[in-house]
Amino acid sequence: MGEVFLPGSLREVFDLLSGEPEALLYAGGTDLFVRSSLEEGGGKPLVCLERVEGLKGISDHGDEIRIGGCTTHSELIRSRLVREHFPLLMHAARRIGAPAVRNMGTIGGNICTASPAGDTLPPLYIFDAFVELCSAGRARRVPISEFITGPGQTALERGEVLSAICLKKDHGCTFFHFEKVGQRKAMAISVASFAFAAGINGDGMIRKARCAFGSVAPTVFTSSNIDRCFIDKPMDEDTLRQAALLVRSEVSPISDVRASEGYRRSVAGNLVMRLEDLVRDTG
Ligand SMILES: Cc1cc2nc3c(=O)[nH]c(=O)nc-3n(C[C@H](O)[C@H](O)[C@H](O)COP(=O)(O)OP(=O)(O)OC[C@H]3O[C@@H](n4cnc5c(N)ncnc54)[C@H](O)[C@@H]3O)c2cc1C
Repeated sequence: MGEVFLPGSLREVFDLLSGEPEALLYAGGTDLFVRSSLEEGGGKPLVCLERVEGLKGISDHGDEIRIGGCTTHSELIRSRLVREHFPLLMHAARRIGAPAVRNMGTIGGNICTASPAGDTLPPLYIFDAFVELCSAGRARRVPISEFITGPGQTALERGEVLSAICLKKDHGCTFFHFEKVGQRKAMAISVASFAFAAGINGDGMIRKARCAFGSVAPTVFTSSNIDRCFIDKPMDEDTLRQAALLVRSEVSPISDVRASEGYRRSVAGNLVMRLEDLVRDTG
């Protein structure tokens, strides 16, 4: 393991990164320290972001919420702002690992790891989140769907830090659901996950729908075709069956040690069908 630096400000982080261009950033370390690629990075200096002012906390900025990149999953779950405006993100954070992982792991780390199974990612796609990236010379905002470019790949440039996630409050959805299927109930990487948000009229007709799936494509899978097939329909068996058929035809999963391609395709459709039970249960 290389030398570990514990900067207290972003300015110090940028100074360290300019002096040590090979340095690796980490926040909770729950991905970096278990990844075998650390072997490749063995000996490289490590810059811990945990004590950096301004990377933590969730704040209200009028029409949007700003979540610091080093906000832990436990903090997301406890946040009144997240519960009020983005309950879907809270539901997803609750399904991550175990308490120790949620206490250490951060939303910024989850995004930068860019795993197709990252649990905070489907809700962030649904809400069209922007990530805020800062370096010594500039700050830029990038839509999450452009920031994540492939499995384990992002548009983060050398010298940049993911400083925050910005979410617009006016998403117009009132019905939220997150579900993941793993090989066991807890501490499992998802075989498939499904996030859903909808705006439903007083007469029960769906006015807006957004779906996002994890672990069934190289990055989070969304499709305007699938979203459209809910519009002006009730959330009944017919609507969900049509959506599930489309989902199974459009996703592009792989087979790996956890599940086959065919199983993932089938589960992705089943997760959509489960919405009917939920609607029935919630009356
Ligand atoms: C036992 C166990 C169970 C887990 N279960 C789940 C699960 O159920 N669901 C799930 O989604 N994940 C799970 N994970 C993975 C992991 O906990 C999460 O992805 C977590 O959010 C990573 O956050 P971190 O702060 O620990 O990331 P780190 O390990 O600190 O960093 C991960 C990567 O992101 C980069 N990085 C981190 N923060 C920043 C930043 N602010 N700016 C720029 N780059 C940054 C690092 O350089 C590194 O490449 C699990 C991990 C373990 C060990």
